[in-house]
Amino acid sequence: MTDPAQTVTNWARNITYTAKEFHRPDSLDALRSLVAGSARVRALGSGHSFNRIADPGPEGVLVSIAGLPPAVEVDTAARTVRVAGGVRYAELARAVHAKGLALPNMASLPHISVAGSVATGTHGSGVANGSLAAPVREVELVLADGSAVTIARGDARFGGAVTSLGALGVVTALTLDLEPTFEVAQTVYVELPLAELDFAAVSGAAYSVSLFTDWREPGFRQVWVKRRTDRPAVDFGWAAPATEAMHPVPGMPAGNCTRQFGVPGPWHERLPHFRAEFTPSSGDELQSEYLLPRTAAVAALHAVDGIRQAVAPVLQTCEVRTIATDPQWLSPAHGRDSVALHFTWVDDLATVLPVVRRLEEALAPFDPRPHWGKVHAVPGEVLRGRYPRLADFRALARGLDPDGKFTNPFVADVLNGRQA
Ligand SMILES: Cc1cc2nc3c(=O)[nH]c(=O)nc-3n(C[C@H](O)[C@H](O)[C@H](O)COP(=O)(O)OP(=O)(O)OC[C@H]3O[C@@H](n4cnc5c(N)ncnc54)[C@H](O)[C@@H]3O)c2cc1C
Repeated sequence: MTDPAQTVTNWARNITYTAKEFHRPDSLDALRSLVAGSARVRALGSGHSFNRIADPGPEGVLVSIAGLPPAVEVDTAARTVRVAGGVRYAELARAVHAKGLALPNMASLPHISVAGSVATGTHGSGVANGSLAAPVREVELVLADGSAVTIARGDARFGGAVTSLGALGVVTALTLDLEPTFEVAQTVYVELPLAELDFAAVSGAAYSVSLFTDWREPGFRQVWVKRRTDRPAVDFGWAAPATEAMHPVPGMPAGNCTRQFGVPGPWHERLPHFRAEFTPSSGDELQSEYLLPRTAAVAALHAVDGIRQAVAPVLQTCEVRTIATDPQWLSPAHGRDSVALHFTWVDDLATVLPVVRRLEEALAPFDPRPHWGKVHAVPGEVLRGRYPRLADFRALARGLDPDGKFTNPFVADVLNGRQA
C-alpha cells in the first residue's frame, strides 16, 4: 500500500487531488476492505483527465487499482478478453494482438487505463466506430459494502454500468469483445479547405479519419487517414499527401507519433496517433472536447471558424473526429452519431477559460456534450438536460450506492445539482 498521505496529481499536473488518503491496494481483498471501511471513495485510473472528476474531496479516499494483479486473459475461442481495470491499453493491445485478435478501435494514446477510459466515454475516430465502451460486455465492480458484482450486457443495469463516471463502485475487471486482427495503413494529408467541405465523404473515406487545425487560417492543416488494408481504398482527393512525417501539434517531434506514409502495420500501432514509448500530445497542455450530432458538423465548424481569432492564440491543436451512436446512458455520444471537436490548449487555465466559455456559446445551438474528462464550463443544470437517460443513471447509482460513497462534487453536480 502506498503512503496514504502522498500528494497525487493528474497527468497534466493541473489538478492536485484533495483526498485525505491515497491507497494502492495489491489484492482484491485489500480493496474490498478499504472500500467497505471508508465513507467516501473515488477510483483513480492513469490520471489522464483534466478536471476533478476523480477527486473524492478532502474527506475522501483516492484509490488506484494499478497495484492489483494486471490480468489480461484472452479467450481465443470466444474472442473475448478479461482485463483488470487498471491495465493500460498499450499492454492490453499487445496481449490481444499476440493472440491474433484486435480491439475495434483505440484513443489517440495507448497510455490510458481501460477502466478510467470507458468510465468517461473515451473514444477514437471512425464513422462506424463506437466509443471504447462499445466492445465491453461485462463489468466487475466492488460496491460500497465491499461486495463484488458483475453486470453483463443484457442486464437492465448495463446501460449505466460502463460509462459510469466512477459513481457506481470500483471497476476491478472488464470483459471485452474482440475481432480477428487487422492491419492499418496511415497516411497524413495537408491543407484541406473548410469551404465546401463534404464532411460525410471526408470522415467516411477510411476506417478512422481525424482532421487537425490550428484555426490560424480557415480549413485543416492535417488530415490523418487510417485505412484498414482488408477494406477497399478510397481515393482521398480533397488534400495533398504530406511529404514529411507529421505531429498534430506544430513543432513537436513526429517521432513520437505512429508510422505514416501508408506503411501497413498492426491495428494497435496505427489507430493511436501517439506511440506508447513517448509522451503523447504536447505534455504541457489542457484539453476540452465537445460531442455534437454529426449532422451539425459543418455548421459547428463554421461557428468555430467565426471565433478563430479568439481561439487560435491559446490553441495548440484542434482535432475533429467521429463516433458512432453509443447506447451507454452517460456517453457523450449517447443516442446520436456524433462529431467531436477537440481542443488542446496552452497550459494556462486563466487565459483558456474565457475562450472555453466563448466556444461553448458558439457551439450551444448544436447541443454539445462536453467530454467528461476534460475542461469545460457548462453548468450541471444545462448538462442534465442533454442526457435523456440521466434519471435512469441516477436511480441506478442510488440503488447500488445509497449513501453516495462513490460520489464527489463533480458527480453530484451532474446527477442532482447538489454538492456532495
Ligand atoms: C494526452 C491525452 C490524450 C487524450 N486523448 C483522448 C482521446 O483520444 N479520446 C478521448 O476520448 N479522450 C482522450 N483523453 C482523455 C482521457 O482518455 C480520459 O480522461 C480518460 O478518462 C483517461 O483515463 P484514465 O484511466 O486516466 O482515467 P482517470 O482520469 O484516472 O479517471 C477518469 C474517471 O474514471 C474513473 N475511474 C478510473 N478508474 C476507475 C475504476 N477502476 N473504477 C471506477 N472508476 C474509475 C475515475 O473515478 C474518474 O471518474 C486524452 C487525455 C490525455 C491526457
